[in-house]
Amino acid sequence: MLDRIFIPRDLRASLRKTLLWSLIVAFLAAIVTQVMYGHYFPEIYARFGHRLLVYGFLVTLIVAMPFIAIFFSMTMRLSTMNSQLKEIARRDGLTGLLNRTALEKIVRDRSGEPREAGADDDALILIDIDHFKTINDTHGHAAGDHVLRMVAVCIVGNVFERDHVARIGGEEFAVYLLGAGPTGAVEAAERIRTALEENKSYFEGKVIRVTASIGGALYPQEADFGAIFQGADFALYRAKRGGRNQCEFNGLPGIWHTPEEKSGLDDSDAA
Ligand code: GH3
Ligand code: MG
Ligand code: MG
Repeated sequence: MLDRIFIPRDLRASLRKTLLWSLIVAFLAAIVTQVMYGHYFPEIYARFGHRLLVYGFLVTLIVAMPFIAIFFSMTMRLSTMNSQLKEIARRDGLTGLLNRTALEKIVRDRSGEPREAGADDDALILIDIDHFKTINDTHGHAAGDHVLRMVAVCIVGNVFERDHVARIGGEEFAVYLLGAGPTGAVEAAERIRTALEENKSYFEGKVIRVTASIGGALYPQEADFGAIFQGADFALYRAKRGGRNQCEFNGLPGIWHTPEEKSGLDDSDAA
């Protein structure tokens, strides 16, 4: 019956529990009432007999049900709040992306999961906005925050839904690409770089543009998070040192380095 009416599943479960426990409590109270009257008030017992069982049951049901309902509704609210708090603790307040701790947990948990034989490796990429301090200095901190939110949207929009995107520091982001392999990882990094370069953020009538440097590393299943992170960070450092607005991959030399080199490679491919 309850299933036919639209009631949220956890509320339905709480109603069911309330009903069940009210019936159990009322039943036990009815037996206790019966025994008590039989023992201490034999005249009353003789007068009402088994009707005492019914009265005890009904009175307890009416009195106990609201308390049991309040108890279960509070338990339900607490468990909902608990899951909401857990979710808030996993998120970055400004962008709504995962935070660094949550990303690290996802990545570490994934190491233990079984994978299909021959599946491509995962990859970790780190994205650092170029000269972001200048954006704050020129347009103000609120504009900087706005740009960070736009960057977050841009990154999420340029990776697969299954990938995990996090803000791991002030103007630093990380993406964990599932089963991307070397080609997918490089493509994703370059897609993000291009999208950011082309993106315009509008803040109080001004157009703000940013670029980002990206460092990446492949993440084989048995690898250590710290080591892979360090590798990607090293690649990011190379991208910064190489002139910014470019992608570098640790352990993947020769795929491409600067955007100019990449277009050079494309031209030579076409020739
Ligand atoms: P680089 O190209 O070398 O990465 O230069 P950068 O200016 O981006 O790097 P730097 O580390 O010198 O500066 C990062 C700036 O990011 C400094 C800080 O004020 C700003 N920042 C960090 N967190 C936030 C934030 O939450 N909001 C805003 N608006 N700015 C932030
Ligand atoms: Mg930085
Ligand atoms: Mg920066």
